[in-house]
Amino acid sequence: MGMKVLVIGGGGREHALAWKFAQSDKVSEVLVAPGSDAIDDEPGCRSVAVPENDHSALISLAQKEGVGLTMVGPEAPLVAGLVDDFQKAGLKVFGPTKAAATIEGSKQFAKDIMKKYNIPTAEFETFTDLEEAKAYVRRAGAPIVVKADGLAAGKGVVVAETVDEALNALEEMMDDRKFGDAGESVVIEECLRGEELSYMAFVHGRKVVPMVTAQDHKRAFEGDTGPNTGGMGAYSPVPHLDGEWLKKAEETVLRPMAEAMADEGVPFTGILYGGLMITEHGAKVIEFNARFGDPETQVILPRLKSDLAEVIDRVMSGEEPELEWTDEACVGVVLASEGYPGSYEKGIPFDLPDVADPDKQRWFHAGSKRRDGGWQTNGGRVLLLSTLAPDLNRALESTYASLNRGTWNGLFYRKDIAHQLK
Ligand code: AMP
Repeated sequence: MGMKVLVIGGGGREHALAWKFAQSDKVSEVLVAPGSDAIDDEPGCRSVAVPENDHSALISLAQKEGVGLTMVGPEAPLVAGLVDDFQKAGLKVFGPTKAAATIEGSKQFAKDIMKKYNIPTAEFETFTDLEEAKAYVRRAGAPIVVKADGLAAGKGVVVAETVDEALNALEEMMDDRKFGDAGESVVIEECLRGEELSYMAFVHGRKVVPMVTAQDHKRAFEGDTGPNTGGMGAYSPVPHLDGEWLKKAEETVLRPMAEAMADEGVPFTGILYGGLMITEHGAKVIEFNARFGDPETQVILPRLKSDLAEVIDRVMSGEEPELEWTDEACVGVVLASEGYPGSYEKGIPFDLPDVADPDKQRWFHAGSKRRDGGWQTNGGRVLLLSTLAPDLNRALESTYASLNRGTWNGLFYRKDIAHQLK
């Protein structure tokens, strides 16, 4: 008889987490709040309609159901202090406290720690005054990057190729308040060039257990063009980065950050996510997140052979367990509603084509809903098809072959995920 696990959230990342937890011998049932119809269909999983911002209802649910471990998917409940509230109620939860989640909730906080502890990142300045920010941009010139300090669902970043573009972005954030309070303070930073990499680790205080790497595609359209999105696809591993390079990123970024948080009196527990840029001067941090990436999770967890519940249990007991990974590669392609990341319609029906091999290929749902026995769209990112195969090329072929068998009215997907590998 295993324990019950509670996953907070209801998107594609949480679908992947619930699916992975449900395979654990230690887990009897996975509750997901608020979950989704697709998560509810997943063997061993049950969606419970409690919103992720209702802390007391979530605590009551965990107590009533005798939940042994809670894991928080999205950033908003972390920044809102859900972990602190669970801890106060005596519930075991794997995620950062509100104070530790500030590494994602405030770019300035994260940048200041990186500066203090010599963790490599882009040069930067922080501003709360629009005229001072503009004067800085005029002096520094373009290209230059303007970021809203607070949470903006991954959309509060403008990589400006010209000074005018940067000035515009500043006005939108600070004057027009395009991102609300998140833009009260802005970080302006050096534009880094290079390839991006997501490098995540299970962390508990000074204990750090890194995962395999992944790369995601943030731009909406092919050729990495169009607006930034939550992510249009991902793949793992990132083949041209060898073990030595990664070891260095672990030693210069992930471990020092965990140490720094502990030294600062805000020890981090949960998933530490380093968004890295591989520059000619080595790996530099673009951002830290305080949770699993979406869609990276949907291509990383299928590669994890170890038992997720056991890994978390051991990390929280102060161990650094060795993780077991399949050598297979994994590709994930997102189907999004036409119009996303701008406005889009909901309620468009769709059918899921059969997967090539249920052990190797699976649908993770983000914004979908059951209706009259079928599926319909219910969000911006709707689905992700994830495929394991002996190498990335074969994973890509199999993913696109299955996608091509579908008719996708009102949906679109990028046909060039992992294009740089070809
Ligand atoms: P963030 O929300 O901080 O991850 O930024 C979103 C995206 O903007 C990143 O994935 C990068 O593609 C880009 N970006 C952010 N910071 C920089 C930078 N300093 N130089 C170049 N590109 C950046």
